[in-house]
Amino acid sequence: MISDMKHIMNTDGSPLIIAGPCSAESRTQVLTTAGALHRAGVRIFRAGVWKPRTRPGGFEGYGELALPWLAEVKERFGMLTATEVGTPRHAELALRAGIDVVWIGARTTACPFVTQEIAEALRGTDIPVFVKNPASADLDLWIGAVERFARCGLSRLGAILRGFKTFIRPDDTCPPYRNTPFWEVADRFRAELPELPMLCDPSHIGGARCHIAPLSREALSRGYDGLIIETHCNPAEAMTDAAQQLTPEALARLMESIAVPV
Ligand code: PEP
Ligand code: MN
Repeated sequence: MISDMKHIMNTDGSPLIIAGPCSAESRTQVLTTAGALHRAGVRIFRAGVWKPRTRPGGFEGYGELALPWLAEVKERFGMLTATEVGTPRHAELALRAGIDVVWIGARTTACPFVTQEIAEALRGTDIPVFVKNPASADLDLWIGAVERFARCGLSRLGAILRGFKTFIRPDDTCPPYRNTPFWEVADRFRAELPELPMLCDPSHIGGARCHIAPLSREALSRGYDGLIIETHCNPAEAMTDAAQQLTPEALARLMESIAVPV
Protein backbone atom coordinates (compact mmCIF):
# COMPACT_ATOMS: atom_id res chain seq x y z
CA MET A 1 0.00 0.00 0.00
CA ILE A 2 1.30 3.47 -0.86
CA SER A 3 1.01 6.33 1.58
CA ASP A 4 2.23 9.80 0.83
CA MET A 5 1.90 11.92 3.95
CA LYS A 6 5.14 13.83 3.38
CA HIS A 7 3.33 17.13 2.98
CA ILE A 8 1.86 17.01 6.47
CA MET A 9 4.77 15.41 8.33
CA ASN A 10 7.56 17.61 9.69
CA THR A 11 10.21 18.18 7.06
CA ASP A 12 13.05 17.69 9.57
CA GLY A 13 11.82 14.23 10.51
CA SER A 14 10.83 15.26 14.05
CA PRO A 15 7.57 13.78 15.40
CA LEU A 16 4.36 15.32 14.11
CA ILE A 17 2.26 16.90 16.85
CA ILE A 18 -1.49 17.25 16.35
CA ALA A 19 -3.16 19.04 19.26
CA GLY A 20 -6.43 20.67 20.19
CA PRO A 21 -9.50 20.06 22.29
CA CYS A 22 -11.47 16.84 22.45
CA SER A 23 -14.51 18.88 21.35
CA ALA A 24 -15.01 22.25 19.70
CA GLU A 25 -17.14 23.92 22.40
CA SER A 26 -17.32 27.56 21.31
CA ARG A 27 -15.64 29.95 18.90
CA THR A 28 -13.71 31.49 21.79
CA GLN A 29 -12.54 28.16 23.18
CA VAL A 30 -11.40 27.05 19.71
CA LEU A 31 -9.56 30.28 18.86
CA THR A 32 -7.98 30.70 22.30
CA THR A 33 -6.69 27.13 22.31
CA ALA A 34 -5.51 27.28 18.70
CA GLY A 35 -3.72 30.61 19.22
CA ALA A 36 -1.78 29.23 22.19
CA LEU A 37 -0.93 26.04 20.29
CA HIS A 38 0.21 28.03 17.29
CA ARG A 39 2.59 29.99 19.54
CA ALA A 40 3.88 26.67 20.90
CA GLY A 41 4.75 25.59 17.35
CA VAL A 42 1.87 23.18 16.67
CA ARG A 43 0.98 23.05 12.95
CA ILE A 44 -2.10 20.83 12.99
CA PHE A 45 -5.11 21.69 15.12
CA ARG A 46 -7.58 18.97 16.10
CA ALA A 47 -11.11 19.47 17.42
CA GLY A 48 -14.04 17.08 17.56
CA VAL A 49 -17.08 18.52 15.84
CA TRP A 50 -19.21 15.35 15.88
CA LYS A 51 -18.64 13.43 19.10
CA PRO A 52 -19.36 9.70 19.12
CA ARG A 53 -20.59 9.11 22.66
CA THR A 54 -20.67 5.56 23.90
CA ARG A 55 -23.95 6.28 25.71
CA PRO A 56 -26.50 8.92 24.72
CA GLY A 57 -27.19 12.00 26.79
CA GLY A 58 -23.76 13.64 26.84
CA PHE A 59 -22.50 16.48 24.69
CA GLU A 60 -22.52 15.24 21.09
CA GLY A 61 -20.66 18.17 19.54
CA TYR A 62 -21.95 21.26 17.75
CA GLY A 63 -21.66 19.57 14.37
CA GLU A 64 -21.83 21.82 11.33
CA LEU A 65 -22.07 24.93 13.48
CA ALA A 66 -18.49 24.40 14.66
CA LEU A 67 -16.95 24.06 11.19
CA PRO A 68 -16.57 27.84 10.62
CA TRP A 69 -14.59 28.06 13.90
CA LEU A 70 -12.06 25.63 12.44
CA ALA A 71 -11.99 27.59 9.19
CA GLU A 72 -11.14 30.67 11.24
CA VAL A 73 -8.22 28.83 12.88
CA LYS A 74 -6.84 28.13 9.44
CA GLU A 75 -7.33 31.69 8.29
CA ARG A 76 -5.93 33.41 11.39
CA PHE A 77 -3.05 31.13 12.31
CA GLY A 78 -2.34 29.27 9.07
CA MET A 79 -2.71 25.95 10.88
CA LEU A 80 -4.06 22.83 9.23
CA THR A 81 -7.31 21.61 10.78
CA ALA A 82 -8.32 18.06 11.64
CA THR A 83 -11.60 16.54 12.77
CA GLU A 84 -13.30 13.17 13.13
CA VAL A 85 -15.79 12.06 10.50
CA GLY A 86 -18.19 9.30 11.46
CA THR A 87 -20.65 9.26 8.55
CA PRO A 88 -20.47 10.03 4.79
CA ARG A 89 -22.41 13.24 5.50
CA HIS A 90 -19.75 14.36 7.99
CA ALA A 91 -17.12 13.65 5.35
CA GLU A 92 -18.93 15.80 2.76
CA LEU A 93 -19.42 18.65 5.21
CA ALA A 94 -15.80 18.51 6.37
CA LEU A 95 -14.56 18.64 2.77
CA ARG A 96 -16.87 21.53 1.97
CA ALA A 97 -15.63 23.42 5.05
CA GLY A 98 -11.99 23.04 3.97
CA ILE A 99 -10.92 20.68 6.78
CA ASP A 100 -7.39 19.52 5.91
CA VAL A 101 -7.11 16.18 7.70
CA VAL A 102 -9.73 13.74 8.93
CA TRP A 103 -9.55 10.85 11.33
CA ILE A 104 -11.75 7.80 11.69
CA GLY A 105 -12.69 7.17 15.32
CA ALA A 106 -12.36 3.86 17.15
CA ARG A 107 -16.09 3.22 17.08
CA THR A 108 -16.27 3.85 13.33
CA THR A 109 -13.25 1.72 12.41
CA ALA A 110 -15.15 -1.18 13.97
CA CYS A 111 -17.94 -0.92 11.37
CA PRO A 112 -17.02 -1.96 7.79
CA PHE A 113 -20.30 -0.63 6.33
CA VAL A 114 -19.68 2.85 7.65
CA THR A 115 -15.96 3.00 6.84
CA GLN A 116 -16.81 1.90 3.30
CA GLU A 117 -19.40 4.67 2.93
CA ILE A 118 -17.02 7.29 4.30
CA ALA A 119 -14.27 6.08 1.97
CA GLU A 120 -16.67 6.46 -0.96
CA ALA A 121 -17.61 9.97 0.15
CA LEU A 122 -13.90 10.91 0.13
CA ARG A 123 -13.18 9.28 -3.24
CA GLY A 124 -11.56 11.65 -5.72
CA THR A 125 -9.95 13.79 -3.00
CA ASP A 126 -6.47 13.54 -1.58
CA ILE A 127 -7.37 14.45 1.98
CA PRO A 128 -5.13 12.76 4.56
CA VAL A 129 -7.03 10.13 6.59
CA PHE A 130 -5.80 8.75 9.91
CA VAL A 131 -7.52 5.53 10.97
CA LYS A 132 -7.68 4.89 14.71
CA ASN A 133 -7.59 1.34 15.98
CA PRO A 134 -10.98 -0.22 16.70
CA ALA A 135 -11.83 -0.56 20.39
CA SER A 136 -11.28 -4.32 20.23
CA ALA A 137 -7.82 -5.66 19.49
CA ASP A 138 -8.80 -6.90 16.03
CA LEU A 139 -5.86 -6.25 13.74
CA ASP A 140 -7.72 -7.27 10.56
CA LEU A 141 -10.58 -4.88 11.28
CA TRP A 142 -8.06 -2.03 11.65
CA ILE A 143 -6.10 -2.95 8.51
CA GLY A 144 -9.37 -3.64 6.66
CA ALA A 145 -10.61 -0.11 7.36
CA VAL A 146 -7.37 1.32 5.94
CA GLU A 147 -7.72 -0.90 2.87
CA ARG A 148 -11.22 0.47 2.23
CA PHE A 149 -9.78 3.99 1.96
CA ALA A 150 -6.89 2.80 -0.21
CA ARG A 151 -9.30 1.01 -2.56
CA CYS A 152 -11.27 4.23 -2.97
CA GLY A 153 -8.10 5.89 -4.25
CA LEU A 154 -7.03 7.69 -1.08
CA SER A 155 -3.27 7.63 -0.87
CA ARG A 156 -2.57 9.84 2.12
CA LEU A 157 -3.21 7.34 4.87
CA GLY A 158 -1.98 6.98 8.42
CA ALA A 159 -2.93 5.22 11.64
CA ILE A 160 -3.39 6.13 15.28
CA LEU A 161 -2.99 3.85 18.29
CA ARG A 162 -5.58 5.01 20.85
CA GLY A 163 -5.59 1.86 22.97
CA PHE A 164 -8.05 -0.99 23.40
CA LYS A 165 -11.00 -1.46 25.70
CA THR A 166 -10.41 -4.34 28.09
CA PHE A 167 -13.02 -5.91 30.29
CA ILE A 168 -12.33 -5.53 33.98
CA ARG A 169 -14.23 -7.55 36.59
CA PRO A 170 -15.53 -5.33 39.41
CA ASP A 171 -13.22 -7.05 41.93
CA ASP A 172 -10.10 -6.53 39.81
CA THR A 173 -7.82 -3.70 40.67
CA CYS A 174 -8.22 -0.81 38.29
CA PRO A 175 -5.80 -0.75 35.38
CA PRO A 176 -3.76 2.43 35.22
CA TYR A 177 -5.07 3.40 31.80
CA ARG A 178 -8.46 4.13 30.29
CA ASN A 179 -7.54 1.96 27.30
CA THR A 180 -4.74 -0.62 27.21
CA PRO A 181 -2.10 0.27 24.63
CA PHE A 182 -1.23 -3.31 23.48
CA TRP A 183 1.81 -1.90 21.68
CA GLU A 184 2.40 -5.30 20.12
CA VAL A 185 -0.90 -5.11 18.16
CA ALA A 186 0.22 -1.78 16.70
CA ASP A 187 3.65 -3.30 16.00
CA ARG A 188 1.97 -5.97 13.89
CA PHE A 189 0.02 -3.26 12.07
CA ARG A 190 3.28 -1.38 11.46
CA ALA A 191 4.95 -4.53 10.16
CA GLU A 192 2.10 -5.11 7.68
CA LEU A 193 1.76 -1.51 6.55
CA PRO A 194 5.22 -0.02 7.07
CA GLU A 195 4.62 2.96 4.74
CA LEU A 196 1.86 4.37 6.94
CA PRO A 197 2.83 6.95 9.54
CA MET A 198 1.76 5.70 12.97
CA LEU A 199 0.73 8.24 15.58
CA CYS A 200 0.03 7.59 19.24
CA ASP A 201 -2.94 9.12 21.07
CA PRO A 202 -1.75 9.13 24.69
CA SER A 203 -4.87 11.10 25.73
CA HIS A 204 -7.34 8.32 24.97
CA ILE A 205 -4.94 5.60 26.12
CA GLY A 206 -4.13 7.29 29.42
CA GLY A 207 -7.45 8.92 30.26
CA ALA A 208 -5.73 11.18 32.80
CA ARG A 209 -3.26 14.06 32.48
CA CYS A 210 -0.55 12.34 34.54
CA HIS A 211 -0.18 9.58 31.92
CA ILE A 212 0.28 11.80 28.86
CA ALA A 213 4.01 12.55 29.14
CA PRO A 214 5.18 9.01 29.98
CA LEU A 215 3.01 7.49 27.23
CA SER A 216 4.27 10.06 24.73
CA ARG A 217 7.87 9.19 25.58
CA GLU A 218 7.14 5.48 25.30
CA ALA A 219 5.61 5.96 21.83
CA LEU A 220 8.52 8.03 20.60
CA SER A 221 11.03 5.55 21.97
CA ARG A 222 9.19 2.95 19.88
CA GLY A 223 9.73 5.03 16.76
CA TYR A 224 6.21 6.45 16.39
CA ASP A 225 5.91 9.18 13.79
CA GLY A 226 3.95 11.55 15.98
CA LEU A 227 1.39 12.21 18.69
CA ILE A 228 -2.18 13.49 18.80
CA ILE A 229 -2.79 15.11 22.17
CA GLU A 230 -5.99 16.62 23.55
CA THR A 231 -5.35 20.19 24.65
CA HIS A 232 -7.87 22.69 26.00
CA CYS A 233 -7.51 26.30 27.12
CA ASN A 234 -9.43 25.43 30.32
CA PRO A 235 -9.38 21.64 30.80
CA ALA A 236 -11.29 21.72 34.09
CA GLU A 237 -14.32 23.12 32.26
CA ALA A 238 -14.11 20.82 29.23
CA MET A 239 -17.45 19.37 28.09
CA THR A 240 -15.82 16.04 27.17
CA ASP A 241 -12.73 14.20 28.42
CA ALA A 242 -11.88 16.85 31.04
CA ALA A 243 -9.49 14.60 33.00
CA GLN A 244 -7.14 13.93 30.11
CA GLN A 245 -6.77 17.31 28.41
CA LEU A 246 -3.59 19.35 28.86
CA THR A 247 -3.35 23.12 28.88
CA PRO A 248 -1.49 24.55 25.89
CA GLU A 249 1.30 25.55 28.33
CA ALA A 250 1.65 21.96 29.57
CA LEU A 251 1.70 20.75 25.98
CA ALA A 252 4.45 23.27 25.13
CA ARG A 253 6.52 21.96 28.07
CA LEU A 254 5.94 18.38 26.92
CA MET A 255 7.00 19.28 23.38
CA GLU A 256 10.20 20.82 24.69
CA SER A 257 10.93 17.80 26.83
CA ILE A 258 10.47 15.35 23.96
CA ALA A 259 12.16 17.43 21.28
CA VAL A 260 14.48 15.16 19.40
CA PRO A 261 17.66 16.68 18.07
CA VAL A 262 17.68 16.30 14.29
C1 PEP B 1 -11.37 11.63 19.82
O1 PEP B 1 -10.23 11.61 19.31
O2 PEP B 1 -11.88 12.66 20.27
C2 PEP B 1 -12.13 10.36 19.97
C3 PEP B 1 -13.43 10.35 20.16
O3 PEP B 1 -11.34 9.31 19.91
P1 PEP B 1 -11.60 7.71 19.90
O4 PEP B 1 -12.30 7.40 18.62
O5 PEP B 1 -10.20 7.22 19.97
O6 PEP B 1 -12.41 7.38 21.13
MN1 MN C 1 -11.67 12.82 23.53
